[in-house]
Amino acid sequence: MSFDSFGLHPDLMRAIADVGYTSPTPIQAQAIPIVIEGRDVMGAAQTGTGKTAAFTLPILQRLMPTANTSASPARHPVRALILAPTRELADQISQNVTLYAKYVPLRSAVVFGGVDMNPQTAALRAGVEILIATPGRLLDHVQQKTVSLSSVSVLVLDEADRMLDMGFLPDLQRIVNLLPGARQSLLFSATFSPEIRKLAKTFLNDNPTVIEVAARNAAAENVSQVVYVVDRPESKRAAVAQLVRSLGLRQVIVFTNTKIGASRLARELQREGIPADAIHGDKSQPERLATLERFKKGEVEVMVATDVAARGLDIAELPAVINYDLPYSPEDYVHRIGRTGRAGASGQAMSLMVPEDQRLLTEIEKMLRRSISRETLRIDRSADRGGQRTSERADGRVATERGSRVAPIAAGQPSRPAKAGPQDPIFSQPYQPKPVAAPAPGDVASPAKPIGSSKAAPAGIRRAPKPVPALLGGKRKASS
Ligand code: AMP
Repeated sequence: MSFDSFGLHPDLMRAIADVGYTSPTPIQAQAIPIVIEGRDVMGAAQTGTGKTAAFTLPILQRLMPTANTSASPARHPVRALILAPTRELADQISQNVTLYAKYVPLRSAVVFGGVDMNPQTAALRAGVEILIATPGRLLDHVQQKTVSLSSVSVLVLDEADRMLDMGFLPDLQRIVNLLPGARQSLLFSATFSPEIRKLAKTFLNDNPTVIEVAARNAAAENVSQVVYVVDRPESKRAAVAQLVRSLGLRQVIVFTNTKIGASRLARELQREGIPADAIHGDKSQPERLATLERFKKGEVEVMVATDVAARGLDIAELPAVINYDLPYSPEDYVHRIGRTGRAGASGQAMSLMVPEDQRLLTEIEKMLRRSISRETLRIDRSADRGGQRTSERADGRVATERGSRVAPIAAGQPSRPAKAGPQDPIFSQPYQPKPVAAPAPGDVASPAKPIGSSKAAPAGIRRAPKPVPALLGGKRKASS
């Protein structure tokens, strides 16, 4: 299949050719024709599947008849509103919209919190057809009357599951109340939990087209997964340093469950001579974007991140992620490992656990319906130059990412109890091993080259199995 079959405007086709996409990904193949027709969509798409273009391209196509070069703000009312849970995701969507709208006179702007409102206000006052926003900052602009939403004809809720997790439901309700009732609505979510279905019932029309491109809650097939068991929490820093060095990782995101943990680990890795930096909710927006840029350029090799900060980050073909902490919610595991193996590239997801974390791993495996291979990681103490440090957790308190709450923790125990009970029947089902995915015929993804494959495996580390070839149909041109 090629992009030609959608009947997209030549100026959009030119932009697609410029970014180097040769064929649509599965979500694009399914969603683009439906969105062009003006129907509501509820899309379950794994992260990295190309869903941003899946909604942006048909929206631009639908707005083409209104595109104009007039200088008058009145000729550029907000017609498409794209809501995203985090600043990074909003920024990223905005960058994609700019790329795809490169040759068409449709204006776009992005508004998110944590930065000066004035430049955003100026952009809104000048008039934009496509507005990408985080809910809170959008409401600030609404309150200041710097934006009117009365001409919105398309609403997109991206990463809707995360918006609910972050408590945005009341804000979403307020925003939707400001929109015309006659509109097209698109909801994208990594998972279809009962809460998401309820949200869809409220915000979409009665009969949305449901698009699911990957098995529900399944992790990317082209990501190899391994869990390294270490003896105690204090060994994890040395384990990360050892993995980074021995596997020759040059671009890796390491996930921690807490903001304090992220900062501490980044500092400790820096002390060991590893270019590392942390990205989390306590950092200012400019700091977060600067770290992300340095990571993309390769100046920072290890980016230590919390879930919320990392949500939606698109780093092309990130080869590996490491879970320093196993996440408390299995969905977060799927999101985390979705950072690697994006858009057809192969990836490696490594997790560190101490024996006490078994319960968290069991929850993850239940949701994935597969087991993850476990290896025991022997720490090379001679490489542990930083020596044992007193953990900042020793004070028994830890800041959580989703607010400034502090919660007590007991040594060796998770800082937050696992969710009280299953919300999805999948959690209560017995574990069923998942059949191994067959390689896609004719797959032309770059060869699944194990990281550091030129070197012998270090003591204590078994190389992760070769990743299963790509799940996606859409590929970048080899030259791009
Ligand atoms: P998304 O899921 O929208 O964050 O997209 C993930 C990555 O896939 C981004 O880097 C996109 O540039 C890339 N991508 C989107 N569509 C295609 C396509 N048809 N072919 C190749 N790469 C794509």
